[in-house]
Amino acid sequence: MFDYDFPLNINDLLYRARDLFSKREVVTRYPEGVHRYTYGDFYGRVCQLAHALDQLGLKKGEKVGSFAWNTFRHLELYFALPCTERILHTVNIRIPQEHFVHTINKAEDRFLFVDEDLVPIIERVQDRLETVEGYIVMSPSGRLPQTSLRSVYDYEELLAGQDEDYPFPEFIDEKTTALMCFTSATTGLPKGVEYTHRGVVLHTLAISLPDAANMSEKMTLLLVVPMFHVLSWGCPFACTMVGAKQVFPGPQPTPGDLARLIQDERVTHTAGVPTVWLALLDEIKLGKYDFSSLQEVLVGGSAPPRSLMEAYEEHGIPMVHAYGMTEAYPVVLVSRLKSYLEDLSREEQYYYRMKQGLLMPLLRGKVVGESGREVAHDGKELGELWLRGPWIARGYYREEEKTRETFGDGWYHTGDVVSIDQEGYIQIADRTKDLIKSGGEWISSVELENAIMAHPAVREAVVIAASHPKWNERPLACAVLKEGEDPRGKKKEIKEMLSQKFPSWWLPDDVVFVEEIPKTSVGKFDKKELRKKFGDYYMGK
Ligand code: AMP
Repeated sequence: MFDYDFPLNINDLLYRARDLFSKREVVTRYPEGVHRYTYGDFYGRVCQLAHALDQLGLKKGEKVGSFAWNTFRHLELYFALPCTERILHTVNIRIPQEHFVHTINKAEDRFLFVDEDLVPIIERVQDRLETVEGYIVMSPSGRLPQTSLRSVYDYEELLAGQDEDYPFPEFIDEKTTALMCFTSATTGLPKGVEYTHRGVVLHTLAISLPDAANMSEKMTLLLVVPMFHVLSWGCPFACTMVGAKQVFPGPQPTPGDLARLIQDERVTHTAGVPTVWLALLDEIKLGKYDFSSLQEVLVGGSAPPRSLMEAYEEHGIPMVHAYGMTEAYPVVLVSRLKSYLEDLSREEQYYYRMKQGLLMPLLRGKVVGESGREVAHDGKELGELWLRGPWIARGYYREEEKTRETFGDGWYHTGDVVSIDQEGYIQIADRTKDLIKSGGEWISSVELENAIMAHPAVREAVVIAASHPKWNERPLACAVLKEGEDPRGKKKEIKEMLSQKFPSWWLPDDVVFVEEIPKTSVGKFDKKELRKKFGDYYMGK
């Protein structure tokens, strides 16, 4: 039937949780209280949901959108759709209305599963959703709220009374699309990426390895990365496969909510972007909650400042740096020290640990310089990172031109400018569009940002390329000071600090203090807004 031996199906991750880990827990925080059940209960409900999808008349290969927080119900969707040969499109709830309406229409979602508190957002756009035939509201109370949505169902009512077993297909062609996600688009409209059963299973196995996320049944993982953003970095699948306890932060989690969950559920591991860990650090410092169960924090999505990693380590919580993107399910690099590097001094260890890391098994990568040749492995020469492998997307969904531009030669051109050292550790200098080209030479904004954030008075900082009449572009630093810090004299201090580390032509000509740094929908610094505001800062100077 298949031209390969045994297809890789997400179904087998689900069956493993059912057969081996039926007593392990899945916990969700709701403002109303904590919901908990076991993988045994979870399996029964995935089956009930599969029956409900049949009743809705959903055919193989059709798509359903989720507009939801990280909860156990979202986890049920993660499995019930792919395991019955349908496709789950996880819609980003934080992007502008124009953008998420575009993604739902482009994906042609037939139904939309919506968390109760997000219903008003969907009510406002329902007339513009061209393919959605019905809405399924997921409410913590299990009762349908008052709503102007048409063709609306209650999630719990759909499941109630359904059989807790389901005749899943014996095999699904592993190249079948299982899930879909759109890029969080820093330019233009989001682009769709499809994830296959094969890609998800191989990615799940790879991230579970000891030198990646080191997944184990003994773990309790707090899933902070939104499930609408690149499959929450693959954590829901990996946890289910290994039987780890999953803890979902639910709707609108605050840093205090995360801290309480870590304490109450004895969380051992978690993963997320630096801005989340920056906010949680304040909670750790307050000393109100018990963080003693936490063994490791995975940080990625953007580069963490060294000061952040050090601060966590001072509290006995090691941070591990990782890198990836929507086009790669997402994990590509993880930075753990090789055994013989552990003998190095602390300073030398940080040299490697601050880098984005080593390529995951089964992925191929090359760093291509401006000349079109691969750069030297000297940790200095810069080039664009190109990738291929079983979980690197083949293209953008129904975007021929953009696919040709980015994937045309069989390699995915990441748009990230990196160096690679003799040990194979890759370091991101910048996004191609964020690089600063001053007088024909490149300046890395990321390195400058990290150095500025090491200043004790600085909370957050970005460095942007501002147009310059003489040098074409010059770096401009935008910084947010910590509460109560007086900006007087700080510009000079920051510049002096940078001058000890970087050549003079790298130094930002100016530092502007701003109230806050805008963030993207997934919590990364959004330089676009600052570029708009300060892009001409040096013109006429
Ligand atoms: P997204 O598809 O929204 O996850 O964004 C992917 C992009 O985020 C990558 O192409 C990088 O530019 C950036 N990124 C991801 N992880 C890191 C990291 N650890 N350090 C620096 N940039 C990162």
